[in-house]
Amino acid sequence: MQSYSLIASAKINLYLEIIGTRPDGYHNLAMVLQSIDLADQIDLHPLQTNAICLHCDHPEVPQDHNNLAYKAAALMAKNFSDAFAKFGGVDITIQKRIPVGAGLAGGSTNAAAVLVGLNLMWDLKLNDKQLQYFGSLLGSDVPFCIAGGTMLATVKGEYLSPLPALDNYYVVLGKYRSLSVSTAWAYQTFRHQYLRDGVTREHHQQEVHLEKMVSAIAHRNERQIGQLLYNDLERVVLPQYPQVQRLRDEFQGLGCAGMMSGSGPTVFALANSQTQAQQVVESIKIAIPDPDLELWVSQFTSSSIRVASFTK
Ligand code: ATP
Repeated sequence: MQSYSLIASAKINLYLEIIGTRPDGYHNLAMVLQSIDLADQIDLHPLQTNAICLHCDHPEVPQDHNNLAYKAAALMAKNFSDAFAKFGGVDITIQKRIPVGAGLAGGSTNAAAVLVGLNLMWDLKLNDKQLQYFGSLLGSDVPFCIAGGTMLATVKGEYLSPLPALDNYYVVLGKYRSLSVSTAWAYQTFRHQYLRDGVTREHHQQEVHLEKMVSAIAHRNERQIGQLLYNDLERVVLPQYPQVQRLRDEFQGLGCAGMMSGSGPTVFALANSQTQAQQVVESIKIAIPDPDLELWVSQFTSSSIRVASFTK
């Protein structure tokens, strides 16, 4: 049986609007999600025994059944028990490059890679929709991480409509190494502060502009896309983390369209060339000479999970 090496991309949110709460405790959302080429590597090797083993080189990532990639393998083993019995277990190695707890869907994209990889390894012939269904059982961002590219995501984030691909965009990402934000905390705090009777307060509804963002993407209007970046969760995360607000302000001061991704604390700024992106990185390093601040230059990509290699 073959071993697979997969590249699993991170995502940023170009738009994140919280519409209201749901009876299941989650929130109805309207999001525009974008894959970027900052990625982890996931290696899958067949095992002779019926076990799932997981290794990861990052100290904050669990190496047991709590890892989302492990959960993905367990879900596939449960649903395709014949294949699991026939082909045996799997050894999963995660090389982490995506920062953890960063609002970049690191765990979700690892789970997506395992679903895609086991589909190939066990010759299950599931199509993308079927894989996305299994992904939705693991987390709201997993279906997008299987699909990749530029997508409108609604309901909990698992209903996806493709948008025209935004190629040749560069993005600068900034995250304080020691800082991570709990997604659950961010949504809970937003609910308490901004939702009344489960729906967004009226004044807030008037500020949002999903249709304009979708139209700007359809026209690939870079300037407008930059102006229309939006994230409801900034309203709770930025007041709590002044250094994240400061980083966002510095990006703005350089004339870049910037925004927090997901529940943060990563902040991104759009750039139209690699040179401009590198200049932004240098300027931020001067403005905030803090060794705890990590910066990356990344590029938009239309694929999320990619098979890098396979061996017999
Ligand atoms: P999202 O953008 O989907 O909200 P995130 O990027 O903010 O996610 P993750 O990097 O996925 O956050 O990590 C969130 C938590 O999940 C971490 O505390 C980590 O311990 C746990 N976790 C479980 N599996 C993984 C994984 N494969 N990679 C990273 N974190 C994982």
